[in-house]
Amino acid sequence: MISIKNLPKGNSMYDNNNIFAKILRKEIPCTQVHEDDNSLFFNDINPQAKIHVLGIPKVQCVDFTDFVSSYDTNTIALFFKSVDNVIDKLNIKESGYRLVCNSGDHGGQEVPHFHVHILAGEKIGPMR
Ligand code: 5GP
Repeated sequence: MISIKNLPKGNSMYDNNNIFAKILRKEIPCTQVHEDDNSLFFNDINPQAKIHVLGIPKVQCVDFTDFVSSYDTNTIALFFKSVDNVIDKLNIKESGYRLVCNSGDHGGQEVPHFHVHILAGEKIGPMR
């Protein structure tokens, strides 16, 4: 069982029942790409490119700002090191990739647990 660290005081908006919290607790399945002590990476259920991997830190955080403001530098660095390791593992460093992080209403975020999208495997095209 993976333990999700407690959210520091002041951030009471985190919904423990969001779909990625359930994936972290292994309550619902995912197609795992990589897991370590600090992060989990899995295929997006509705891929927008040949390779579409989601990466989430194993802490309670709603979005990017919540993640970087609520946790220590080491936790933040370890997550982004894992993102780079997964990019290596996917063998997409040379061909290229797009790293996306949606936040809030205008950013089009659907799942309120901070995550990055790694899109690759073909030309991803213009931003919009
Ligand atoms: P957002 O819009 O929040 O940045 O992205 C959420 C992503 O999560 C979407 O690309 C969506 O397809 C994906 N997603 C939603 N529910 C599930 C699920 O149950 N399993 C997986 N693997 N991906 C999901």
